[in-house]
Amino acid sequence: MRALYPGSFDPVTLGHLDLIQRASGLFDEVIVAVLRNPNKQPSFSLEQRLEQLTCATRHLPQVRVASFEGLTVHFALQVQARVILRGLRALSDFEFELQLAHTNASLSAEVDTLFMATAVHHSFLSSSVVKEVARFGGDVQHMVPAAVAEDLHRLFNRAVG
Ligand code: ADP
Repeated sequence: MRALYPGSFDPVTLGHLDLIQRASGLFDEVIVAVLRNPNKQPSFSLEQRLEQLTCATRHLPQVRVASFEGLTVHFALQVQARVILRGLRALSDFEFELQLAHTNASLSAEVDTLFMATAVHHSFLSSSVVKEVARFGGDVQHMVPAAVAEDLHRLFNRAVG
């Protein structure tokens, strides 16, 4: 079975990667898809985010990296993914995620949403927290892959320099 794991991944964190790794043991194929959202101004370009994800998942043969625009359900149908994967870190994620899952279910009965619990030691991680730490010079080595830590360093050094 093929699963779609959509998100902004701005940037990808070790929390995302833990979920991708575990999902790749459960599904024949996991498509990690970066949403191109014209209403959001990301910190990293689409190309950078694709590169970060491709590099971080290179060792996982079942994982494919893609990008999409528009509705997640439409993209899931297009790539014939039966499942949309979403991660749950805390109760605070739940309300929004459930609303999203119900919305998607109302749009297509052919795609199901599956929630995976975050690894406990990564449950505090979000892309925005990582950026906040990096912006003020904190160590992010235990939060993101090494290449992403370098990208963050470049991003914020340039911004202040
Ligand atoms: P979005 O903007 O769609 O929420 P994100 O890139 O922030 O995109 O997250 C994509 C998915 O990854 C979501 O399902 C989110 O709950 C999940 N996720 C975010 N952080 C973590 C984490 N630390 N561990 C596991 N899953 C996470």
